[in-house]
Amino acid sequence: STQDGPRMAVVTGAAQGIGKAIASQLIEDGFDVLIADLRGAVEAARSLGSKAHGCDVDVSDPAQVQSMVDRALSIHGRIDGLVNNAGIYTSLKKKPFEEIGQEEWRRVFEVNVEGVWHCCRLVSPAMRRAGTGAIVNIASASVAKGNPMLLQYVASKGAVLAMTRVLARELGESGIRVNTVSPGFTLSDGVMSEAGQREAQRAGAREARALHRDLQPDDVAGAVSYLMSPRAGMMTGQNITVDGGMTMN
Ligand code: NAD
Repeated sequence: STQDGPRMAVVTGAAQGIGKAIASQLIEDGFDVLIADLRGAVEAARSLGSKAHGCDVDVSDPAQVQSMVDRALSIHGRIDGLVNNAGIYTSLKKKPFEEIGQEEWRRVFEVNVEGVWHCCRLVSPAMRRAGTGAIVNIASASVAKGNPMLLQYVASKGAVLAMTRVLARELGESGIRVNTVSPGFTLSDGVMSEAGQREAQRAGAREARALHRDLQPDDVAGAVSYLMSPRAGMMTGQNITVDGGMTMN
């Protein structure tokens, strides 16, 4: 049965930040993990030990995503889990919606939305054959809040949330679960590499949360770990928000 033997998960955007914390947690949970990223995947995998495997990929390019899937299948002949975490966020400058360039808008959608579509459609054949699998899509608590000055980003994550629901229905008949995790403002590597490290935003976020502390990548990884486990066997089409109780539903 698919419960036996080594389990294989693919985590995109896992060379750093939230993705790396998710990969590390899934390894602790017993998965082999393919660390898939635009850059730094091989180095990150090396730092995570022998159950981590590095793979360069641009998730917006279907040919590269297919190579990523082939690579994952070459390890144990199966893919039990997919975490769509790769996304453009920390490099975006906040600006009024009138000032967003069309090229920037398109690139955000190409990666954050089309990338999720490509990964799901190219991983799902292996999961369908196995009759089981779990997909977690990383959206954002900004969808619920309607964060201003990031229309392209918030719109892309709204699409991810909606896609999760459609995919959960289409893949349910094959025993595949699809869920969303929506993080609040998280101190990922991308965020922390910025000049000033957004101290004002961090203080505001702490204040607005029910739990008055910073949100770390490991906080997000905990929710993903649960959704990827058999303990979440009847969870699909759902959204778990990890934002310290800034929003509530
Ligand atoms: P990060 O910038 O630290 O890491 C993102 C990783 O994704 C990088 O390693 C990057 O190389 C990779 N990546 C980017 N484009 C890619 C592509 N086309 N193909 C493959 N890999 C690609 O970011 P993070 O803060 O850890 O964010 C991870 C995810 O969580 C993103 O989807 C982000 O939108 C989401 N998120 C972040 C926050 C936050 O506050 N940090 C909040 C909500 C949601």
